Amino acid sequence: MVVGVLVELSNKNIDRIFDYLVPQCLEEKIQLGIRVLVPFGRQTLEGFVLEIKDFLNSYSDLKEVMDVVDDEIVLNQELLDLGKKMKEDTLSTLISCYQVMLPKALKAKKGTLIRKKMDIYYRLADFDLTTFSFSDKQKQIIELCRTKNFVLKKELMDISRSSLSTLIKKGILIQEMREHYRIHYISSIKKVKELTDDQRKVVNQVNLFQHAVYLLYGVTGSGKTEVYMELIDLVLKQGKTAIFLVPEISLTPQMVERFQCRFGDLIALFHSALSEGEKYDEWRRIVRGDAKIVIGARSAIFAPVFDLGIIIMDEEHSDSYKQDDANPRYHARDIAILRGKYHQCPVILGSATPSLEVMARAEKGVFHLLSLPKRVNGKSLPLVRIIDMNDEIRKMKGHFSTPLIQAISSRLERHEQVILLLNRRGYSSFVTCKNCGYTFKCPNCDITLTYHKSSHTMRCHYCGYGTKVYEQCPKCFEHSVCDLGVGTEKVEEELQNIFPSYKILRMDFDTTSRKGMHAKMILAFQRHEYDILLGTQMVAKGLDFDNVTLVGVINADTGLNIPDFRSSENTFSLLSQVAGRSGRSTKTGEVIIQTYNPQHYAIFYAKQHDYLGFYRREMQLRRVLKYPPFYYLCSIRISGCDPNYLQIEANKIKRSMERNFSHTIILGPSPCSIFKVKKNYRYGIILKYKKEKDLSFVLEKILDHYKSNSKIKIDIDFNPSHF
Ligand code: ADP
Ligand code: ZN
Repeated sequence: MVVGVLVELSNKNIDRIFDYLVPQCLEEKIQLGIRVLVPFGRQTLEGFVLEIKDFLNSYSDLKEVMDVVDDEIVLNQELLDLGKKMKEDTLSTLISCYQVMLPKALKAKKGTLIRKKMDIYYRLADFDLTTFSFSDKQKQIIELCRTKNFVLKKELMDISRSSLSTLIKKGILIQEMREHYRIHYISSIKKVKELTDDQRKVVNQVNLFQHAVYLLYGVTGSGKTEVYMELIDLVLKQGKTAIFLVPEISLTPQMVERFQCRFGDLIALFHSALSEGEKYDEWRRIVRGDAKIVIGARSAIFAPVFDLGIIIMDEEHSDSYKQDDANPRYHARDIAILRGKYHQCPVILGSATPSLEVMARAEKGVFHLLSLPKRVNGKSLPLVRIIDMNDEIRKMKGHFSTPLIQAISSRLERHEQVILLLNRRGYSSFVTCKNCGYTFKCPNCDITLTYHKSSHTMRCHYCGYGTKVYEQCPKCFEHSVCDLGVGTEKVEEELQNIFPSYKILRMDFDTTSRKGMHAKMILAFQRHEYDILLGTQMVAKGLDFDNVTLVGVINADTGLNIPDFRSSENTFSLLSQVAGRSGRSTKTGEVIIQTYNPQHYAIFYAKQHDYLGFYRREMQLRRVLKYPPFYYLCSIRISGCDPNYLQIEANKIKRSMERNFSHTIILGPSPCSIFKVKKNYRYGIILKYKKEKDLSFVLEKILDHYKSNSKIKIDIDFNPSHF
């Protein structure tokens, strides 16, 4: 037997299949998608078996496979084919496409193979129980085994040790060794909510037996999550499985809790806070078919489920669904659609503020539009007040206008809770000299350093560089350095001074970096241990607190200043999402937005809760400026440590594109907005096109041309989420 192996080295030069002989003793274990150990040059590498061929004489001088790594295949046929398609679509190496599908614990690191541990489980023997009589405890044990099929020994011992041993002795329970999983889900099935007529209508419109893409456009609090759970329930009843994607799972502990209550240990959670071992366990539970519902962020779209019955992407507009910092630069939505086609199952994209690309396709009828136009509680969306900071700023000392302070006080007096958003995007605290205006920048990255008060340091958010804050300015030598701008810490201090007797919870990158902190904070706020939740973008999404009746946005427009064609869309979406946290239950909600641009359409339409108004206006602009969804974009980044050489090569690349493309607008090369990152200089070329037959072919040629050149690195990003 001969196998074609793709080795685990992500290098364009060797991204192809190499043949190896299989010694007879290993032949039995060889399958497509299994990993093997092979000699490669002077190294020993792991690789995936992608081809199995019969031996021919011409193969006789091949090297031999040294060992088989796994007991079972790690990539099934569907995922093997999916990887090949991804390689074509993203122009990445095939091996990087396979690596992104697997939990890290499975990635090649010799000698660190995970051994599976085993646990003792019990299941019901296959005989008629009606002839026996049981004690209450025994009945409880039998009932649990009936609903869960297999129950962990410890769980049964907790009910009653003696009843357990009696049942085992009588042969009613049978012991079975099963894989040890580090996480256990407790099922506590609560009463399922009766769907409203609107929700029922949406559920009925989804055809579960055929592939189609649906956009579920539902305002905040319209009950989308309940619809998702109902659809998943229907899919499970057909014996199929589901994938449910959220932008960032640690930000949605309430959502996870709802799924856990309803589906218990049928769910497998891919959580960034899980250890690699725990992730591996979850992956195993899916492969074994023990878990039926996969819940996770972007990469959970690759979960190795069989019989997929539905894929749901909540908060479809979120840019976290696009991997843009490493190859393969894929969008989870594209993968979802490919898998949906393969399994002939529906794909549901849900949002209160759908991305323009998706809404445009729904308008054209490419996707089916489903809508939930009203809140479940029957209330209208919260009233939004705009505070024009151009007038207010002269009257105030800190960051809070008088109307916002008044509104906060009146809620607090009524024992209601408040959420405050500090928009950090493009607006962080930086250190500057009051005398000459010097600002401290990162020596590696050409970006302003951010001030961290707790450690009194300045840090680079790109490369992690950090330094103590100097008192003396390195440029003018005056002792007049101070920190400017605003961080959440500073706003918290100010807020505490205004409301000394109320409790404030600050939620940002610093306070949530420890594992599990995020969920703890959200639950503490839910229990009303705090009165005000102050935070960054993290507080805008998915949260559902009955008692929150005021949402305040401290600085609505910082995101509008970012030079990105999506800055209005992102601002509108952020404001709509955060506004949606107010008045979700019986109490009426209000929203206050502080802004210097009260007339800006993103803010105007957010105030009106008018998604469609915003959509039409933004579409007009995009059409005129030739941006998505009217044109596709492709961003090409050329980086290296010699800026002169890069500029010369970037111009050559541009000229070769000009010769080869006839329907594409080519912009650049120009230095990227952050020219220098980690001591690397970067140039960008942007392509705008509707249809360009040879696009991939030409780009592939360019990549090929430079693949052995260590002075230059080229990254290609189709449909980039940022500029
Ligand atoms: P969305 O995901 O659209 O923001 P949710 O599904 O979180 O909305 O629903 C908003 C609130 O309404 C939640 O507290 C949820 O429990 C409640 N809810 C949703 N559907 C129903 C229903 N059919 N009956 C009663 N309450 C519901
Ligand atoms: Zn840096």
